[in-house]
Amino acid sequence: MAKGGFNSLPKMTMPGALLIGCDAGTINFAKIKGNHTAMKSGMLAAESIIETLITADGVSDEGKQDLTLYTDKYKNSWLYDELYSTRNFGPAMHKFGTMLGGAYNMIDQNFFGGKLPFNFKDDTLDYDQLKLASEVAVIKYPKPDNKLSFDKLSSVFLSNTNHEEEQPCHLKLGDSSIPISVNLVKYNEPAQRYCPAGVYEVEKTEEGDKFVINAQNCIHCKTCDIKDPSQNITWVTPEGTGGPNYPNM
Ligand SMILES: Cc1cc2nc3c(=O)[nH]c(=O)nc-3n(C[C@H](O)[C@H](O)[C@H](O)COP(=O)(O)OP(=O)(O)OC[C@H]3O[C@@H](n4cnc5c(N)ncnc54)[C@H](O)[C@@H]3O)c2cc1C
Ligand code: SF4
Repeated sequence: MAKGGFNSLPKMTMPGALLIGCDAGTINFAKIKGNHTAMKSGMLAAESIIETLITADGVSDEGKQDLTLYTDKYKNSWLYDELYSTRNFGPAMHKFGTMLGGAYNMIDQNFFGGKLPFNFKDDTLDYDQLKLASEVAVIKYPKPDNKLSFDKLSSVFLSNTNHEEEQPCHLKLGDSSIPISVNLVKYNEPAQRYCPAGVYEVEKTEEGDKFVINAQNCIHCKTCDIKDPSQNITWVTPEGTGGPNYPNM
């Protein structure tokens, strides 16, 4: 299939704004690299703004308002080619599983340079994939050996995560009863496990199970916002530059 036949290009322009970098989904999923692609999209956006608003005379009012030049520049750049060639990487593994999907990706990426004529896409939402706790066996993980594996909180410590004291919790629950009344009953409240920073806990109290949010430990990965099976958690920007601070990145 010609690359022009790939029609699911998301809209990256709108009056008064352009989407760039990870907001526009420019990460190369096959390599898990997104710095060079984010930078390139920013450069294309800057060029489009300059050429449309300052130097271009023949651009229509609509073109000026929507900055459609950005889409054209993007489609004609190495960024588009790179993302196009890796478009099937994630969906292939979701569709066929890690083994078969991985084999497809190995062949597609290494022998065909991402040019196999298929376009896979994810048909279901991430939060909708979870199985009921009653349908799966409990996984018993070995204890961290402190050599190769570590407990969550010592890793959070390395991230230098910090939030100002007494600020409003930046992890908003739509309905505060759902974690216990729905998620705990059906899924053994998965937030206890998917959160990499141990922010969410279910505490046994005399009054019954209590959902606890240790928001000060949040490392801003936003997994909870995406993965909560009840779509009840919204991550909002915390106050005062709080969050992780990786000193060696
Ligand atoms: C753990 C990890 C490892 C990675 N390793 C690599 C790697 O080795 N190589 C590579 O190329 N890529 C890597 N990536 C991907 C890469 O970091 C991203 O693709 C890239 O940083 C995206 O750049 P960006 O400018 O689009 O977004 P970001 O770098 O996410 O910048 C967005 C900024 O907006 C700020 N912000 C968000 N909301 C608001 C708001 N409401 N108001 C004000 N500011 C706000 C955020 O604090 C942030 O500073 C990695 C990503 C992760 C998470
Ligand atoms: S954003 Fe990530 S680290 Fe923060 S609470 Fe959600 S899952 Fe945990």
